Amino acid sequence: MSRTALCAPNLRMALAGLARESVHCGLNQGTSGNVSARSSEGFLITPSGQDMATLTATDMVAMEMNGEVSETGRPSSEWRFHRDIYAAFPEAEAVVHAHSPFAVALACLRRDIPPFHYMVAMAGGVDIRCAAYATFGTQALSDAVLAALRDRRACLMANHGLVAWGRSLPAALALAREVEALSGQYLNACQVGQPVLLSEAEMREVLEKFKDYGSRA
Ligand SMILES: [Zn+2]
Repeated sequence: MSRTALCAPNLRMALAGLARESVHCGLNQGTSGNVSARSSEGFLITPSGQDMATLTATDMVAMEMNGEVSETGRPSSEWRFHRDIYAAFPEAEAVVHAHSPFAVALACLRRDIPPFHYMVAMAGGVDIRCAAYATFGTQALSDAVLAALRDRRACLMANHGLVAWGRSLPAALALAREVEALSGQYLNACQVGQPVLLSEAEMREVLEKFKDYGSRA
């Protein structure tokens, strides 16, 4: 699903569908979390303070890259890191942010996810970093998130949640779900002992294989 593949009304519909799906798959509940998609003028993002499970196409808020709201509507207070991800990663077409239970639990411990499982490489590197804490909605939080996302497509956010970007809406959601699953698996393993970590060489091999896989997808 490329930027040119969906015209504006369809992109609104697809983004609302992604927001609802993020609730149905257990990543988000109530008004927590937000999702966005790159548009020709900037990006579309879910609105502030509305139940994610009932959002429709007309609820989506259009924003420009300078942070201006193109039409009416109040964007999610977290629009800054969405905007900064689109600016920093030309391949990013969608961003999913969630306060999902396992990612939040791990992020409250301020722990990176180390290479305890090869699927950690799905985020683009040998680990998934936890971004430093900053107040929600601030530029400081966006700066911390962007630092943790260097060479990565996902990160945890200290005492907050997770964020993932993808080359399509489904890819961003799939990565967010994977980070949530990995967070739970890592926490589980840590209950019993110290998980054995994969080596740098083992992870590099997986990253190479994922690169092939990604180019075929
Ligand atoms: Zn949040």
